[in-house]
Amino acid sequence: MTLKFKYLCTDCGSEYSNSEIMYLCPACNALNAGEIPPKGVLKTIYDYDNLKILISVLLRKVVLYL
Ligand SMILES: [Zn+2]
Repeated sequence: MTLKFKYLCTDCGSEYSNSEIMYLCPACNALNAGEIPPKGVLKTIYDYDNLKILISVLLRKVVLYL
């Protein structure tokens, strides 16, 4: 089971999958001209339902070893 998440651009709202590590939205970054902070900073959005399942599976494994 893997941790699922996606990226959300804080400027244009585009979503990107987590297939590769990204820091900036490609569309907004193309418009950047050295501004600080840059446009298109991506926010990581976790799949909380998936995370809940993952945590419960891990906790069950921990309990088995106690
Ligand atoms: Zn963007």
